[in-house]
Amino acid sequence: MIQIDALPAFTDNYLWLLQDTAKRHCAVVDPGDAAPVLAWLEAHPGWQLTDILVTHHHNDHVGGVAKLKQVTGAQVYGPATENIPARDIALDDNARIEVMGLEMAVFAVPGHTLGHIAYYQASLGLLFSGDTLFAAGCGRLFEGTPAQMHQSLSRFEALPDATLVYCAHEYTLSNLRFAQAVEPDNQDIAQRMQDAQALRAKNIPTVPSNIALEKRTNPFLRVNETSVKQKVDERDPGASASGVGVFTTLRAWKDKF
Ligand code: ZN
Ligand code: FE
Repeated sequence: MIQIDALPAFTDNYLWLLQDTAKRHCAVVDPGDAAPVLAWLEAHPGWQLTDILVTHHHNDHVGGVAKLKQVTGAQVYGPATENIPARDIALDDNARIEVMGLEMAVFAVPGHTLGHIAYYQASLGLLFSGDTLFAAGCGRLFEGTPAQMHQSLSRFEALPDATLVYCAHEYTLSNLRFAQAVEPDNQDIAQRMQDAQALRAKNIPTVPSNIALEKRTNPFLRVNETSVKQKVDERDPGASASGVGVFTTLRAWKDKF
């Protein structure tokens, strides 16, 4: 059986720890800091870290990789086109890897960074989206274009509704505040805001999310909705002529929100 837990790091990062409880093997996604993983291993004698999955080169995602590799000898996977410390296996779009007996597909999802990849596990319905798709939001465009990010998000949108979305940051409340500004009358967003506030008040992560919920509440996946297009045209007349145009205006608006 696979169990997945969030190990909090820094102020709002989550390192996702996948655990094979039968074999006592575990894998971690985007260990920006080694300390929470080493503390977990110390608290769980007999467990072995076998794999490290990296989505992109930012330090809050790779800062702990070299140390963890050195201490545990885990296999390090990361995007082929980015500089990833201690990487063993360089991954391109549509690569397939096996991690603790689970087959994972690699999606190239440029936008936040140019080489950013995501990991999708189809049989359990798991997506590790890094800083590309967030709960109710998406990553900033540090390296890529709006068209690239829009295309990357479209690939996630095509996944089954029940797919769980494990993103790398707890940004949900601020993302939902923006979503409410875009769609003040969207009841799903209002409900999600209430749910997320209740979780955060108890210091519980609001993630994983799922694709169905994102389609109902994430403005960056709702560029074809009439209400979203109208709002975009108020700010940027004519921008709603294409999905990319809507996305571009929303992303620029959110950057200053
Ligand atoms: Zn990042
Ligand atoms: Fe990040």
